[in-house]
Amino acid sequence: MGSKKQRHRNKDEIVENVVDEILNVDKKSNLKKEIIYIVISLTTVLLIVAFIILGYYYKRKTNNLYKDNMNKIHILNTAVLLNDIVDIDSEENTSKIEKYNNIDESIKNIKTTYYQNLKTFEDKVAAGQINYKIAYLTFDDGPYYLTNSILNVLSRYNVLATFFTIGLDKDVCYDNRNASCKDMYLKEANLGHTVANHTYSHRIFGGLYSSGEALAYQVKLQEDLIRTRTGNVVKIMRFPGGSGTAGYYGVKNSAVAQLRSMGYGYVDWTAQDGDGGDPGTPAQAFQTFKNSINERIEVVLLHDYSSVTYSILPQIIEYLKQNNYVLLPLFYESRMINK
Ligand SMILES: [Zn+2]
Repeated sequence: MGSKKQRHRNKDEIVENVVDEILNVDKKSNLKKEIIYIVISLTTVLLIVAFIILGYYYKRKTNNLYKDNMNKIHILNTAVLLNDIVDIDSEENTSKIEKYNNIDESIKNIKTTYYQNLKTFEDKVAAGQINYKIAYLTFDDGPYYLTNSILNVLSRYNVLATFFTIGLDKDVCYDNRNASCKDMYLKEANLGHTVANHTYSHRIFGGLYSSGEALAYQVKLQEDLIRTRTGNVVKIMRFPGGSGTAGYYGVKNSAVAQLRSMGYGYVDWTAQDGDGGDPGTPAQAFQTFKNSINERIEVVLLHDYSSVTYSILPQIIEYLKQNNYVLLPLFYESRMINK
């Protein structure tokens, strides 16, 4: 009897041993599998991170190159083109441009010449010495979902304009071409438009005009954003609501003093299509616009967000060109900039 029990125990032990062994093998192979799994996961994650970093640097590098080259090409082109308008010895200037070895040095000189030429041209227009007029198209409050489409219209007509940009809530704004708003600052600059300052927040009811310092702080914030996005800052700003609104809140004088100390000039407007409020139908907006055009130099107020303005922009441009207006981007030296 005892030996039968013993045999049973032995059998039990054997079974236990076998089960133990199987479990151990299972544990070992599980551990092996886990290690392989972890190694593969880590390698995948590392590869993805490496691709992201490489992609980021590549994009940044090509972006910067594109930015540099587009700026240079644009400035060279406009400088040469403008020589014809202001009657400067263009042959001499062209050969001067060609013989420059240091492109950056020449760009600096050409930029100076470019703005001097614009100023000369503007002075002649203001004095009625030539048969041209000037219109500065300006777009406020962007970038917006329509900015990219508006840029396309301007490019089609070979027109340069000015964008009074803001910065708050502009990272995730998409237009109908899926172009992110935050990319529009650089695109505007690369195309040769003036990227100007309309304060970072634009919050007229959020303390923007609580003091001159508060306004200046918002201008500084937007200046930093424009510098980061485009690498270049033009010291032109427009008060949200116009300088009259700053006056209404009693801070215009102190704000202007602050802006001066920062090197800024500001500009309001002389013409508009009414898109800051309700412009009515496109036909009504176009009529409002035409009624507002009556001076030799016009600063036209428009908004990136207005689908009415977008729909009549070709008409606006054609009307101005038919009436002998040269469409230019604003520049600091312009007489329209209050300094
Ligand atoms: Zn505005």
